[in-house]
Amino acid sequence: MAFFYSLDSTSPEYKLTLKHSNIPIFIPELACPHQCLFCNQAKISGQQEIPQPDEIPSIVDSYLDTMNDGREVEIAFFGGSFTGIPLDLQEKYLREAYKYLCEGKINGIRLSTRPDYINDKVIELLKRYGVTTIELGAQSTNDDVLLASGRGHKSDAIRKASNQILTAGFHLGLQMMIGLPHDTYERSRQTVEDIITLGADNTRIYPTLVIKGTQLAKLYELGRYQPLDLSTAVSWAKDFYLRFETAGVTILRVGLHASEELTHERSLIAGPYHKSFKELMMTEIWADILNQTLKEKRDQEITLEVNPTQVNFVWGYAGQNKKIFQEKNLTAKIRGNNSLSKYEVKII
Ligand code: SF4
Repeated sequence: MAFFYSLDSTSPEYKLTLKHSNIPIFIPELACPHQCLFCNQAKISGQQEIPQPDEIPSIVDSYLDTMNDGREVEIAFFGGSFTGIPLDLQEKYLREAYKYLCEGKINGIRLSTRPDYINDKVIELLKRYGVTTIELGAQSTNDDVLLASGRGHKSDAIRKASNQILTAGFHLGLQMMIGLPHDTYERSRQTVEDIITLGADNTRIYPTLVIKGTQLAKLYELGRYQPLDLSTAVSWAKDFYLRFETAGVTILRVGLHASEELTHERSLIAGPYHKSFKELMMTEIWADILNQTLKEKRDQEITLEVNPTQVNFVWGYAGQNKKIFQEKNLTAKIRGNNSLSKYEVKII
C-alpha cells in the first residue's frame, strides 16, 4: 500500500478502541483539483487500487467475520475526499454500505472529506444513506496557514460546513495538522479552540511531514520550509491533546499511521515522524505528572498506583521516565488500580 498524505482522510487504522472497529474502505478521490503543499496526490490517484462499489460486500464481509464479538462496527470510507467524487458514484458506494446498516450488521457509516465539498445535495445524499459521522480535514483555522498550505479554501468554509453537518444531525469530526507552513503554536492552539467551539465530537492531530513528490518537499529543499522537530511536535500535541480531553472531544489519532511506503520506499524526507508518536506524547504527559507528584520525594521506596491503562505510559516510551525516579534515588513499583481516573496517582 502506498503512503498517502491526504489528510482529508479517515486514517486506515483498524481499531479505534477495543470495543469499536472501523471497516476501512479506501476510495481516493480520482482527480483532486487541489494542490495542497503537503500532499502527494499523484500517488493517491495514480497508484491505488480503488475498490468498485460491487466489491464492497466482499470487503465488508471479510472484516465482519472477524468482528462478531459484540463490538461497535462502522464502515469508514477514507482516502481523499469522498464527497469530491461524482454524486452517482458516491451513491453506489453508499447504497452498498447502507444495506449493512439496514440489516443491523454495522452501527454506522463514516467518511472524510474537504470542508468545501459539503453542500446541500451532498448532505441530502449522505443523510438518505444513513451516514453517521462526517470528518472534515480542517487542518488549520488560520487563513494565512491555509493559504500558505495551498488548501484552496479559507476558514469560513470550515465553519460553514461544520454548521451544515451539525444542523443535519451528523456527528462532526475535525482533523488538524500541526507545523504547516506559516503555522505557530498560537495559531494551532487557536485551531484547537475553534474545533471545540465548532462542535466537533472527534478529532485527529497530524504532524506535518515532508513527503517526496510534494510542493512542500521543494520548499524544504530550497530552505523555505522548516518542519517542526520531533520534541516540539510532541510538546504541541501534548498540550492540544489535553485541551481536547478537557473539552470532551474524542481524539481518534495522534501522529501518522506507519505505512509501508514510509518505511520501505523512503518517502519521508523530513519532519516529526515517529512510529510511536502517541506513546512519546503520553510519556511527556506522565513526566509532567511525575515531576509534580514526586516533587518532595527523595531516597525512598514507593509504590505508585495508577489507572491500569496508564502503567506503561508512566514508565514511558523505552522506559524514558525511569530517569525521573533515578534522579531522586527513588525505588518505585507501579501497579494498576481500576478505581483511579486516567491521570490520577496514589502514592503508597
Ligand atoms: S485536497 Fe489536498 S490533501 Fe486532499 S487529496 Fe487534494 S491535494 Fe491531497
